[in-house]
Amino acid sequence: MSNITINQLHMALCEANSILLTVHIRPDGDAIGSMLAFYEALIAQGKTVHMVVDDVIPEKFSFLKYIDYIHDVSYLETNAISVDMLMVLDASTYERIGRVGALCSAPIFNIDHHISNTKFADYLYLKSNFAATGEIITYLCKEWNWPITESMGTALYMAIATDCGFFKFSNTTAHTLEMASYCVAAGARPNVVSETIEAISADRLELTKQVMQTIGFYKHNTVATIELCPAVMAILGDDTDGFVDIIRNVDTVDIAILLKGESPNRTRISLRSKGTDVNAIAQQFGGGGHIRAAGCTIMKNIEEAKSELLEAIG
Ligand code: 5GP
Ligand code: MN
Repeated sequence: MSNITINQLHMALCEANSILLTVHIRPDGDAIGSMLAFYEALIAQGKTVHMVVDDVIPEKFSFLKYIDYIHDVSYLETNAISVDMLMVLDASTYERIGRVGALCSAPIFNIDHHISNTKFADYLYLKSNFAATGEIITYLCKEWNWPITESMGTALYMAIATDCGFFKFSNTTAHTLEMASYCVAAGARPNVVSETIEAISADRLELTKQVMQTIGFYKHNTVATIELCPAVMAILGDDTDGFVDIIRNVDTVDIAILLKGESPNRTRISLRSKGTDVNAIAQQFGGGGHIRAAGCTIMKNIEEAKSELLEAIG
């Protein structure tokens, strides 16, 4: 692995004729928005570009241009695709790109902003002080004078906004806002993006009423938990955004924990904090992320996973 500079990244992209773009499994707004915008930018540079993700693409992103061009991983199994570069966006570990890694033999480049990045790629461009990979892509386009079209601006604005809680979280910097400003100048409409991304159904709100019964407080109300049992998870699928935000805003709460029961012995965890390093806690369970937003999976039921986490928090 080697860390590369912006110029080395530029040179490598200039030399590559064909590029396979991918992002992490359970793709979020930052992953999808960054990939769609980078796809459009690379096409404009005359490259042959493929987008492949080893997971389903959430319906809420369907308003974005080129979303239908994203292939499932079977695309690599059924087509003989040979590329000059595998470009991995917003993924911090090799495992998080699923089967795409094994199905593509090209040199791996990684553009990412996770402090927990395991340096799995052959060439890494890491900006851990950036709020989003979308912030990096916007920055690269500006530095290289690559035009940001309206559709790129919309995708990048969504990428940036979703990773910093629409500019509320501590990762929001002057640079984050500056990059978002470029996106808006390019034609992104903040109200349209947030209305589209944050829209929920009446059924979803009914379910939320039920889920709120599971909220618990620990350690003098500095830790709060909220649980999605396997039955609720079966209804929600991967669309679990917003639940952790219900508890993180409680004034006394430092650490907010969302426990997602994927099966009776597998619980996915989302951690958010106002001060504590939750990346360090997630790493104790084989996960990672950022200092104030991280995740991991614990091979236990919700109750047992919760006790282990509370013990690890100390
Ligand atoms: P979320 O709670 O939104 O799923 O994830 C919060 C942050 O932690 C994201 O930046 C995400 O990439 C990271 N993250 C979540 N789960 C895992 C995991 O299992 N492993 C690693 N390395 N990072 C994770
Ligand atoms: Mn991200």
